Amino acid sequence: MNQSKTMEPAVFDTIIVGAGLSGLYAARILSQAGQRVAVLEARDRVGGLTCSEYSEYLGEHVDLGGAWLADAHTRMHALVQEFKVPLIRQFVTGKEVAMDGETRHLGEVGSFPGREAVLPELQTVMAKLERELTDLDIDAPWAHTKADELDAMTFASWMKQNIETPGLHALMTASTNAFFGVRPEEVSCLEAMHLFKTCGDILLMGDTNTGGQSAHMMGSQLVSQGLASTVNGVVSLSSPVRRIIQDDEGVTVECEATTWHGQHLICALPPVMINRLEFEPMLPAYRREFHQRCPMGRYAKAILTYETPFWRNQDLSGVVMSIDNRMTGIFDLGDTESQRGVITVLFGGETSIQLDDATEAERDQIILDLAAKSLGEAARKPVQMVVKQWAAEPWSNGGACSYMTPGTLTTIGDRLWQPCGRIHWAGTHLSKVWRGYMEGACAAGEAAANAVLAA
Ligand SMILES: Cc1cc2nc3c(=O)[nH]c(=O)nc-3n(C[C@H](O)[C@H](O)[C@H](O)COP(=O)(O)OP(=O)(O)OC[C@H]3O[C@@H](n4cnc5c(N)ncnc54)[C@H](O)[C@@H]3O)c2cc1C
Repeated sequence: MNQSKTMEPAVFDTIIVGAGLSGLYAARILSQAGQRVAVLEARDRVGGLTCSEYSEYLGEHVDLGGAWLADAHTRMHALVQEFKVPLIRQFVTGKEVAMDGETRHLGEVGSFPGREAVLPELQTVMAKLERELTDLDIDAPWAHTKADELDAMTFASWMKQNIETPGLHALMTASTNAFFGVRPEEVSCLEAMHLFKTCGDILLMGDTNTGGQSAHMMGSQLVSQGLASTVNGVVSLSSPVRRIIQDDEGVTVECEATTWHGQHLICALPPVMINRLEFEPMLPAYRREFHQRCPMGRYAKAILTYETPFWRNQDLSGVVMSIDNRMTGIFDLGDTESQRGVITVLFGGETSIQLDDATEAERDQIILDLAAKSLGEAARKPVQMVVKQWAAEPWSNGGACSYMTPGTLTTIGDRLWQPCGRIHWAGTHLSKVWRGYMEGACAAGEAAANAVLAA
């Protein structure tokens, strides 16, 4: 990987800020079109919200950020193949556990054990949601006939109006925490519906057959490393961008020790990170406002490794859901032949707050308790345990994606996809397919790269 140490401004066709999947996917398209590109990355690694660690014990990578793909994630599947990243179908043989305090409910995977009573109402509520989504144009959610009403309320208000039983309310609350990394009380209802529409439907997002949890990589960061190796130009690590200046001649980008010059720029950062940059001239007011109104969610992820997948001997699949909202869930990361055991424990939204407020010892105890109550006491003794709390990551400030607060889409949404002069915008938060996902990051990078090529 190239790393520029020059003090002279280096000249490129396009400068890309952020070497997450979105920025790198854009860089790859521009490189293929013959452009010279500079990708500037604050961290000392590429990949952003994808982050893999090699486990000597397992002999493979484990993922502390994005990992799962749906069958519909065509861009990501193509990259996985190209860069030979291991991809495993989600192991679902055996029972799913649903945890409710000290009680364990068992059932087939995907059958909502312990919550069977809410399934008829779930169907009714999904049908209502589907009706709202029919009229929602992915390219113009602000034009929905009820846009003002839906954007004035949070998703929690919609749930209150449309859900009767506390059990279904709890299920939808857990899903919002899992998908957005926030409580339903925090996110605009119109924004939530727009995200659901970009993914097809809400049930597909958590589905282990073909949907959002159906296959996972072991080493998603390898995709970013592969993309970086194809860039025609420079990928400069440890280069936090501080200032972006644009004029009639082009764009000048200042990092701490280096200055870069290009004709166009793609900013592929989450809005909270763009908010820290200085722009000259200043960005339009609506754009600055957006960067304040689109915070990151909260997410933490733990990977626990065991000598054997002992839960499989008790006919457990390793898929665990939480009814009491103490975690998002647990998944077995092994394949059908695995000799070693490896699980991930996910904490989305409010479930991650307990970890963010805890000491490291308390945090580890919470994770081990949840694993032991779900899969058995043997889960208290992992060979290895790695935890990533994304709220503590200074160049992300949270995860798994950004979300819009009420009033944002209807007030300034119609301009968010427009460039500001020579500056184009990427990042999964702007995707019109699978927004918030790795596929969305690539799709948004592709759209920004195509806009640069057409400019
Ligand atoms: C715990 C977790 C689990 C997830 N699970 C899944 C999953 O299973 N499936 C899925 O599809 N998605 C998942 N995601 C989401 C997915 O990882 C993201 O949607 C995707 O990686 C976002 O890519 P991006 O390029 O848009 O943003 P980012 O990855 O955030 O990239 C932005 C980059 O900009 C850099 N940067 C920030 N500030 C500056 C600066 N000033 N100068 C230069 N560079 C800067 C950052 O370091 C980063 O590398 C998960 C995310 C997390 C955190």
